[in-house]
Amino acid sequence: MEVKQKIDSLVKMFLLSNVVLKDEEDFKNKLSTIVTDGVDNLQFVADFDDTLTKHTVNGKKTFNSFEIFCKTKTLSQSFLDRGTELFVNMKPLLNKHDLTKEEQQQVDDVLEKIIALIVGEKVNIEDVYECVDQVNTPLKDGCRETLSLLASHRVPIIIVSAGSGDVINYLVRGYGARVVANFYIFDEGRITAYVRPWVGLYNKNQRALPVDDDRHNIVLLGDHTWDSKMADNVPNVKTILKVGFFYGNDEMKMRRYLEHYDVLLLNDESTDKINDMFSWGFAYPEPLVVVEEGYSLPPENCCALIAGANDIGTGESLKSLSTWSSRSPSAPAQRKVPYRHNLITDHPVNKQTTLVKYYINELCARCKESVLMEDRDSKMA
Ligand SMILES: [Mg+2]
Repeated sequence: MEVKQKIDSLVKMFLLSNVVLKDEEDFKNKLSTIVTDGVDNLQFVADFDDTLTKHTVNGKKTFNSFEIFCKTKTLSQSFLDRGTELFVNMKPLLNKHDLTKEEQQQVDDVLEKIIALIVGEKVNIEDVYECVDQVNTPLKDGCRETLSLLASHRVPIIIVSAGSGDVINYLVRGYGARVVANFYIFDEGRITAYVRPWVGLYNKNQRALPVDDDRHNIVLLGDHTWDSKMADNVPNVKTILKVGFFYGNDEMKMRRYLEHYDVLLLNDESTDKINDMFSWGFAYPEPLVVVEEGYSLPPENCCALIAGANDIGTGESLKSLSTWSSRSPSAPAQRKVPYRHNLITDHPVNKQTTLVKYYINELCARCKESVLMEDRDSKMA
């Protein structure tokens, strides 16, 4: 299908769902340029909290990455008390829109004070990871598909956040995301410093981002009006498509958001629309491991499957794979899996055997990570 037709039908579908476009023609032109210029000219710049993560779970607001960090069990009560006090005093400013420059500076100054307060605390990075594993702030539905899609096509994603870089890095590990956020230095069971320059809510656009200079199209994702400015200082941008996640139903606020974003996704706890916008524009590589339609990969079996597929040169593992596949119970409802991943694109055996494809999003994190690494290596070879 031609790009224009495809974008027209995508826009029709969007307008029937919770999507608001600032200017339909402008949106179509931007998307068309991005798709036509291809993956080699594209990069993503994204906020993290409430953009890549869910805003609420079961009606309750999720914790942001810094709040998750602050739940690390070894942090002292005196830090928690002082940090809470500083945060509570700043809260009225966070709820206000149209902050003056001075007020923005005030917010960022308090954030830095809270960040600095943690220095000296008895914390190991493992304590932080343990805490992240226990707190329920999931990535948005479809977000791992988005990250897989980008990683597999080597489209950089730069995550810029005023939250905890250590928490974010852990939550998106395995996808090669470049995280620009607030990191600590851990040394012998203590936090000895925070990494500068640090990231505030209002200074995200004041530092050079680790973008690829030869990619001139950007998709920007954010949920705060100020996020829309994150890539303002990236040089030589040809097209930037700004996608905003908007929560609530305040129309005045929505209008203000539309001054900053090309597209608003309303109360959307998934990145499906992002996947809809871009997955079709990326050419899929030939799949290697094919699980027949109607079958699903139970995550507990993926380790055996990947181990077998890695040893595919012997032919034995392929046999066992197809046996396994045909023994699998029919999946009651095939999950939406827009991305088919190939394992070893240029493996000579591929060309002589019946191809079997598997869905990367069905894999456990460990297998997914190993497959993505393998894929990257094979492309670089
Ligand atoms: Mg955010």
